[in-house]
Amino acid sequence: MKVETILGRGHSCNVFLVESEKNFLVDAGMGIADRVKKRINDVNIDSIVLTHRHIDHVADAKELSDELDATLYAAPKEARALREGDDMSILSSSFGMSFSPLEIETLETDTFSGFEVLLTPGHTEESICLYHEDEKILFSGDTVFANGGAGRTDLPTGDRKKLVESIGKLNKLQVNTMYPGHMSTVRENAGTHIEQSLKNLKMF
Ligand SMILES: [Zn+2]
Repeated sequence: MKVETILGRGHSCNVFLVESEKNFLVDAGMGIADRVKKRINDVNIDSIVLTHRHIDHVADAKELSDELDATLYAAPKEARALREGDDMSILSSSFGMSFSPLEIETLETDTFSGFEVLLTPGHTEESICLYHEDEKILFSGDTVFANGGAGRTDLPTGDRKKLVESIGKLNKLQVNTMYPGHMSTVRENAGTHIEQSLKNLKMF
């Protein structure tokens, strides 16, 4: 498996190009579609999995899915908000934007291209993480970040108690490499970063 990171700039999240059983993107970013396309080059992208509904993860989803002819996926409640263009919870209204409803498939399976799809609510109602047990890789979205960071829960559909539960669930996994939705990736012993996030959350 090969994972390439297209680091987010400005408000955009990080976008990941995964070459596995299927070739897919994790998240679509905001204003970085050109950089993503350049990095993809001639890799045939099958799908784009959105970790959650927030605009900094989905703004470029339509452009990328159209140009790459790739199917968009999100967990059921996130997909519904994106289909409806729910500006309030997508946070497009916070950016003075109106979000155009997306054509998106519901990710109902519990595995995707060799990854376990983990429901990790808290940052949003149905945020997901993708976990590969053999390779000990976690795509953690905005649920957990490097160096003990964790997702905000003060935004619409956020829930602090659920975030603590979700990170507690992640803390039970064997994670070596972690690819969060923002800031740096963790190349080894990512489990210690997750454990620190959980400790920090429980402390305050
Ligand atoms: Zn977010």
